[in-house]
Amino acid sequence: MATKDACGAAPGTHATHKPLPKEEAWKHRPPYLIQAPEDFGEIKWRGKCHCGQISYSLNMERPLNAKFCHCRGCQLMHGAPFQWAAIFPKSSITFDRGVRGLEFYCSSHYTREYEVPAKVSCSYCRTPIMDEGRNVCLLFPESIEFGKDEEEFDRVKECFEVSSHIFYSKRMVEIPDGKPKWAGMDEASELLDDYGNVKPE
Ligand SMILES: [Zn+2]
Ligand SMILES: [Zn+2]
Repeated sequence: MATKDACGAAPGTHATHKPLPKEEAWKHRPPYLIQAPEDFGEIKWRGKCHCGQISYSLNMERPLNAKFCHCRGCQLMHGAPFQWAAIFPKSSITFDRGVRGLEFYCSSHYTREYEVPAKVSCSYCRTPIMDEGRNVCLLFPESIEFGKDEEEFDRVKECFEVSSHIFYSKRMVEIPDGKPKWAGMDEASELLDDYGNVKPE
């Protein structure tokens, strides 16, 4: 996703006796650090990929922000007209099996070695799980386990409601929801109306 990291959550620390090789250290930090329930805190949401190899928990009910991104990269890599991203601090996510079963793609270098920003998906079914940025994770709420009852479903929609659209100038579909729509990056491009016309100042 083409957004900048919105806020700087400090990566969690993990006490170890022997220093890990530097290139492995990321595996032992959130969101890949496997955490005991008492350390992680109350689970607010659970999520999983299509095949079930990847599952995770969130300890925050609401993301810091959520957006729809209409950039070409998101369209292509998600096979969808736009991407729905919910921004969470890294410390608010934990994968049940750590890095096992996850794979990484760095779209700026066309590489699959771990580096941030990275697109993170299930290695088996390829479900996109999140984009990991330098400071935060942009989680795709589609993988959150939506409850069966109507009330739970409404709660998901309400908690993950987007605040704005970005890269709306590249849209494949118009979304007349009245939300702020940025031509490119948020706060750094022109504001458009629902139909892509530049809004008067
Ligand atoms: Zn994008
Ligand atoms: Zn899977």
